[in-house]
Parts: sequence; structure tokens; C-alpha cells
Amino acid sequence: MGIERRKATCNLSATSRFARITVLQRPTRPTQDPSRLASRADTMSHMRLGLLLLIPTLLLAQPKPVIAIGGIVHETNTFNPKKTTLADFSTGIGGADGTLRGQDLITNSIKANNTTAGFIHGASQYGLTLYPTLVAGPQTLGTVLDSAFETLAKELIDRLRQAPKLDGILLFLHGTMVTESYPHADAEVVRRVRQAFGPTIPIVVVHDFHANISEEIVKLTTVLLAYKECPHLDARDAGVHAARIMADIVSGKVKPVQALVKPPMLFNILYHNTYAAPLKPITDASKLLEKQPKILAATVAGGYQYADIPAMGPSVVVVTDNDPTLARREAERLGAMLWGIRDQLTLKAPNAAEAVRLAMTNGQWPVALMDAGDNIGGGSAGDSTFLLAELMKQKAEGWVVVISDPSAVQAAIRSGVGSAFDMPVGGKTDNLHGDSQRVKGRVKGIHDGRFVETAVRHGGGRYWDMGVSVVIEVEGSTPDLPNLLLLTPKRIIPFSLNQLISVGIYPERMKILVAKGTIAPRAAYEGVAAKIIEVDSGGVTAVNPARFEYKHIRPNLFGVK
Ligand SMILES: [Zn+2]
Repeated sequence: MGIERRKATCNLSATSRFARITVLQRPTRPTQDPSRLASRADTMSHMRLGLLLLIPTLLLAQPKPVIAIGGIVHETNTFNPKKTTLADFSTGIGGADGTLRGQDLITNSIKANNTTAGFIHGASQYGLTLYPTLVAGPQTLGTVLDSAFETLAKELIDRLRQAPKLDGILLFLHGTMVTESYPHADAEVVRRVRQAFGPTIPIVVVHDFHANISEEIVKLTTVLLAYKECPHLDARDAGVHAARIMADIVSGKVKPVQALVKPPMLFNILYHNTYAAPLKPITDASKLLEKQPKILAATVAGGYQYADIPAMGPSVVVVTDNDPTLARREAERLGAMLWGIRDQLTLKAPNAAEAVRLAMTNGQWPVALMDAGDNIGGGSAGDSTFLLAELMKQKAEGWVVVISDPSAVQAAIRSGVGSAFDMPVGGKTDNLHGDSQRVKGRVKGIHDGRFVETAVRHGGGRYWDMGVSVVIEVEGSTPDLPNLLLLTPKRIIPFSLNQLISVGIYPERMKILVAKGTIAPRAAYEGVAAKIIEVDSGGVTAVNPARFEYKHIRPNLFGVK
């Protein structure tokens, strides 16, 4: 089960590449927002650089096509009672990215390995001039408030309208955003962009692998493609791919047509690992298909089972150069492959107690326990205590658990490094993620919580900020095998081992690592773990669909009960 180890490709060369990237500035004075004000000096220098880059473009006899980039990126867990607000969008996925606008979108993304970075480098590679608008992407939470969606959608359209000239639009949309009014809000974003810019402007959309794709959005887009991999190590590649197709569309080289097939099933997230059977052969088939000259893109998206909407479930989208019959035929072939593995998708995962027992007796360590019920990337609370309780109850040694608990962090900071710690931890966000657990120990360290991930990890994020965080050495620790609890004020997705290393925890020296995720953390944890166990723990991202009451999905989907 080897996830391909990739190194960041643009770290050292970013400066030289940046010089070749053409960015078109908005001609009117941009709306001032706090992030811009905070970096006014940087912004002014980037604006000057942007203008310098623009001048030669305007002097060319045939200026490059101008392509806008933007997106509202939200994976909505409709079972999470906590609604997503506008403020959640400004926090961002990594706690350090938030909503990025205009030139900041370029400067903050250029060294990352995410989809926006792919748009930027793809535009450079394929001769497009970029017009950056905004990309807003919070952590997964509950249904998006209408007010937040309307504010962001209006800003996106306003910024697009302010472009002096647009030949095409590249959008990054997660593919499973649900708002109070729109069960498939990604389609609503594209509908509004289409309405504003007419039926002929090329709109190429990149989705996350976990998109729940609808017929509506396939009709509204010129091309729709999604990440192929889970963990998502190809987020940047997908952006480059989209830019390449856009260049071919605006030059008149291709005329895309696309077909969608949705097998009548729930594809359990437990089997979303595209680097292992049973999904790998189907992912490989989609890659092979893209080698055919008439195939522009072939997407196999796993879907997102925590959104109770009609489009929930896996999807295949095949895009061809003006050959609808081929698109339909190949989409149906890949769809049949998905349907054909349904009998291999039965749930086999230990509960929290069994998982801790298995980890303690494995014989080779560390063992990574994937706390699937508290999958932060999937929209859970980040403060589940089911595994923490079992580790303490079974007197396991040498473990590390990360829990988001702002009040416990504050208490530990107040008492200071070296002081005793004795208070209830976790289980405070809602009543779905276990009871608070009394933890006794001492405050081992206080850290600023910032770290950088330069390697390619799930989603391609680079800059992370947990907030000021504390490490508690829990009673029962020995110098060789400490029991460590990392308490963070924010919910931080465990996509990077630097989350632990940055606070002095060395994962390879531990026996049991708990990661609050299902498949995505593998990209980081496979590098150190002797064994990975996915745990059927409770929570709003539990892997057992029988724990949820669906009301709006299509009837009789395989795998729901
Ligand atoms: Zn995803």
C-alpha cells in the first residue's frame, strides 16, 4: 500500500518561475480588506511587479488570453449541527490561509501544492494571463449560512465583472457545498457566473475527489474535472490540467463535450484510498483513458457520504473533444467498474476499544489509529475522546493524541510550563464525540502553533497555524514512552507530521499515533507508521452509514444500510 512519495516541485524555483507568470491587475482600486491592509507594503510591490509584467503583454501584437481564477471551496457535512459562517471562511483550511483575494491569491499560493498553484503554474506554462479574483476555503463544517454564501458569491461575481477583458474562467469548487437554500451550491455558483458572462464563455471547474457531482453542474460547465487521488496528492496537477484544457479551448483547438454517470451507490470513504485496491484499478483506468487523443479528462470522484443531498455518491465524468458518443461510452464503462466492486466495500473496521488493543499488541510500532468518526477534514469537531478514553483505560504507553480544546489550552497557558495539569479535556463541542475526559499530568510545552509543510501532502497546503498550543505529558508517562496530548485552540487537520514535530513530538519514537481522519492523513503517516488501522469510532464522520438518517439522497442506494 504505497502512496507515491512526492517532493515539492516548486520550492526553490518559485522565484524564477514567478518572473514568467503574467498577472492582469484589476484596473479599479480594489476593495480594501483587513488582509490587504496588513500587507500593504507587500501588496504595493506586487502591484508594481504585476504592472511591469502586464506592459509587455499589452505591447505584444497578439496578447495572451486573459483567464480569471476564483472559487468558493467548501465540503459541507450536513450532519454537523454547527453551521458554516462567513468568519469560518476567513479562517481557512490550515488556519493560515483564509480567504485570498487579488494579488494575495497569487503570492500566497505560488509555493503551495494546491489547485490554485496549479492554475498559476499552468497558466504560465500554457501562455495564459491570469486575472485573480478570490478563493475562499474554510474547514469542513455544517451547512453554509445563506448570508455567507450570498456575500462570497456576490464578491466573486463582482470581481469577475471588474476584469477589463475575460476569455475564460477557471473555478476551483469543492463539489459538495450545501447552503441553507442550495443543496448543490457549487452548481449555483456556476449558474450565476454563467448568467453574468453568457452561454459561450469557457468555464472550466476543478473539484475535489470527494465531490458529489450533479447533472446540473455538468451542463453548466464547459469542462469539469476532479482530483484523481485520495489522499489528494494531485491537487496541483488538477489545476495545471484545467489550465491546459482552457488554453486549448480559447485557441479553438478543442470543443469539449462531457458525460456524467452516477452508479446508484454510496462509496464508503473507508475505501477511498486510490493507491490501493479495490479503487486503484479504476483510478488507473481513468488515467489510461486520458492518454487517448480525443479524451480531454476522465474523472472518477468518490463522492462525500456526509452530505444528505440528491447528488451524494460517486461520479464519473468523461470529457472528449467533440465526441459525445465516446464520452458517454467511456463514462459508462468506468461507472460499471465502480458498480462492479460494490461487494468489496463492506465495512470492516474495529471499534475504539478493539483498535487500541490491536495497536498495543501489534509488535511493531508506531501504529497509527485513524479516528474516522472525528475526521476533521470531513467536518467533525476535532475534540472526540473515544480513543483518548480507551488509551487511558487500557493503560497504553507511548501514545499521542491531538484534541482541539480552547479552554484547556488557556488553562494550561495560565498555569505555565512544568506546572500540574488536571482538568476535563475534549467532548465539549457537541454530544456526538464522547464525554470530556479528566486528564492528569503536567504542562510540558507551550508553542506558537505555526508550521510549514513543504512536501506534497493531502490537498497541497503549505502554511499552517494551529494557534498557540500546549503539550501535556499525561500521567503514566516514562522518559522513553511518554503519553502526550497536544491541545490546540483550532481544529487542525492532521495532514502533516510537522504538526507534531513542530511541538517537539517525534512520531517515530511513539507507539501509538492517533490521527483524526480516515484516508487523507495516510500521505503523512504512511511514512512513519508500521501499521495503519482505520477505526469505526463515533462522530459526525463515522464510517458506518447506518449511524446516519438520510432524508434527501436518491432512493435505494447500495451501501446506505
Ligand atoms: Zn477531499
